[in-house]
Amino acid sequence: MSTLRFFAVKESLKRKPLSVEEPKRRSEMFGANVFNEAAMRQYLTKDAMQSIMEAINKGSKIDRVLADHISTAMKEWAISKGATHYTHWFQPLTGATAEKHDAFFETIGDGNAIEKFGGSQLVQQEPDASSFPHGGIRNTFEARGYTAWDPTSPAFVYGTTLCIPTVFVSYTGEALDYKTPLLRALYAVDKAAVAVCKYFDKNVKKVTASLGWEQEYFLIDNALATSRPDIVLTGRTLLGHSPAKGQQLDDHYFGTIPSRAMAYMRDLENECMLLGIPVKTRHNEVAPNQFELAPIYEEANLAVDHNSLLMDVMQKVAKRHDFKVLMHEKPFAGVNGSGKHNNWSLSTDTGINLLSPGKTPMSNLQFLTFFINTIKAVETHEELLRAAIASASNDHRLGANEAPPAIISVFIGAQLTKVLEELETVTKGKLSPKEKTDLKLNVVGKIPEILLDNTDRNRTSPFAFTGNKFEFRAVGSKANCANPMTVLNTIVAKQLMDFKVEVDVLIDKKSMKKDDAIFNVLREYIKTSKAILFEGNGYSEAWEKEAKKRGLSNNKTTPEALKVKVAKSSVELFKSLGVMNEVETKARYEIEMEEYILHIQIESRVIGDIARNHVVPTAVRYQNILIENVKGLKAIYGEDFRGFAKEQLNIIEQISRHIEAINSLVTKMIDERKILNSEANIEKKANGYCNKVKPFFDDIRYHCDKLELMIDDELWPLTKYRELLFTK
Ligand code: ADP
Ligand code: MG
Repeated sequence: MSTLRFFAVKESLKRKPLSVEEPKRRSEMFGANVFNEAAMRQYLTKDAMQSIMEAINKGSKIDRVLADHISTAMKEWAISKGATHYTHWFQPLTGATAEKHDAFFETIGDGNAIEKFGGSQLVQQEPDASSFPHGGIRNTFEARGYTAWDPTSPAFVYGTTLCIPTVFVSYTGEALDYKTPLLRALYAVDKAAVAVCKYFDKNVKKVTASLGWEQEYFLIDNALATSRPDIVLTGRTLLGHSPAKGQQLDDHYFGTIPSRAMAYMRDLENECMLLGIPVKTRHNEVAPNQFELAPIYEEANLAVDHNSLLMDVMQKVAKRHDFKVLMHEKPFAGVNGSGKHNNWSLSTDTGINLLSPGKTPMSNLQFLTFFINTIKAVETHEELLRAAIASASNDHRLGANEAPPAIISVFIGAQLTKVLEELETVTKGKLSPKEKTDLKLNVVGKIPEILLDNTDRNRTSPFAFTGNKFEFRAVGSKANCANPMTVLNTIVAKQLMDFKVEVDVLIDKKSMKKDDAIFNVLREYIKTSKAILFEGNGYSEAWEKEAKKRGLSNNKTTPEALKVKVAKSSVELFKSLGVMNEVETKARYEIEMEEYILHIQIESRVIGDIARNHVVPTAVRYQNILIENVKGLKAIYGEDFRGFAKEQLNIIEQISRHIEAINSLVTKMIDERKILNSEANIEKKANGYCNKVKPFFDDIRYHCDKLELMIDDELWPLTKYRELLFTK
């Protein structure tokens, strides 16, 4: 009898929802543990406050003397919230968050001690960071990376620790984290967008990128999840036969949230409120035990931090409720996987969402400018955008009939398609007054503020315009949003810069009026970016064929998709915008390739282990029972036994065949691994793991899953899909 599985099932059946106290008004709790403007105003001098606000709004440096004052104030505030330690909280290239805690406590001689936190500890720290991935940037013997405070993301207290969001850079100044390039990309898009906004409104001084992520996840009973070695080690199930019932009845999506999950969500949302994460929406997702959580959108850097923090908090709160959160993009075969839609827009300091149609023809021309430039940016850099969401785990989801394919395309809806068609016919060169009036009144002026068909969106599109924002849907559920947000903001920044140059040339050299010049450049963009627009079913095979004809990339695997990151054009793009220098770009490529290899390597080891050490021995044990049975039948019936033992003999044979197949496949897989592990070339190694090792997974799984159906349920050691997915 498989004790672990049945022990876990028994445990899971005993669970009761925890009772969770919720405040009457969330707003009163919101941001209570955040050193936000209100807290700063209370603890800081006017000068210090002003200096922080300037650092936030203009990126100016904080004076050393003021830093001392700020750190002391921050410490006092944190102690009042129960903190004893502080940490520089950062996002190394592992995708997780990192922290090293230090106590405020310090001795001052004579056996006395105080609580201290100086400006230098706030502004710069040197964690021993030799084991974070750095893709060759930092020699390990130097083992030095610096963390420096990012004042645009406020400090917060979590548990008993003051967490200070920081950037992480190497001794030689290269970014070793996700945050630094993101901040640079946001700076680039701000500058580029402000310059374009000036055509429409001279008062615009700052443009901010916003992000609202939607986080999907699975909530599995902790005992059940930890009874599966594959879930513990890889975050997903590597085998397991589909249950009789999956998601085919569509009875989970938007259904009643099960009470244990509900208690978890309320608890989690309380924590989010304290931390200033503005979560708003919760609901069941398509697969059993799958859910979604979404906040109100925020400035992109803060939103990225909040998503990273959230993923961490989700696991911690889950423990209290005896759940494990599965963030993996495809934890279960045969049911939907999880994604993280990234809703993105740009808005001005004058309060205008640049991706929202306005009330007047002029504001709509501004909207169209940003709208069309975004499309053009995606068209030019579609492959780079695909690379930004590439990971071993997301490969399982993209194109798997539940998520956008590996082809990037843009959905805009029927109304805007028609607008673009009309703009495409704008006369070349100067426009006649009649044409201009006509355009303004009948085309640009007629874009409704609310785009009806964009609320009933095409769910199959990886990059959809949804009324007042673009929604990048191909991002993986466990990904750090910084990477896709860095790329998206960079390519849009670049595109807006090019646009500005082209319009200015027409104004200066061809003495065109500003509007004429804008219409002329937009018309050309519409013509040249048609290949990226697609309104049909993105999951269909026909689209794959069509996309190929259009010359769109379709990189199905991570090693293929990542290549473009180190193409000359990409290196140049990031460099010219000051987002990443060549070393930084190439280092990220190496780290991501390495990560891919390690991922597949671990999965391969785990599936080999489970197949050989869990499945095969169980199969042998069951086969022996059958053999005993057959022997018994023979003892009773003599040579007539065959008539009674037909089915048993058949199963005995089948078990032997599956065991043989499993053993030989696992051996071959290990042999491939051995060859690849001595491969020094990272491309060859990644491709090998992708094309030579990974294909064994499905074959091994096939035989194991067949055995699962054949073998006595009482003997089966691995917690089954029906138990994992339908225990609420
Ligand atoms: P759904 O796509 O599930 O129907 P919504 O479109 O209402 O949900 O919102 C999804 C996410 O988009 C939320 O996080 C929301 O705050 C965010 N969002 C809404 N407007 C914008 C915007 N202008 N810019 C960025 N994100 C936005
Ligand atoms: Mg959405």
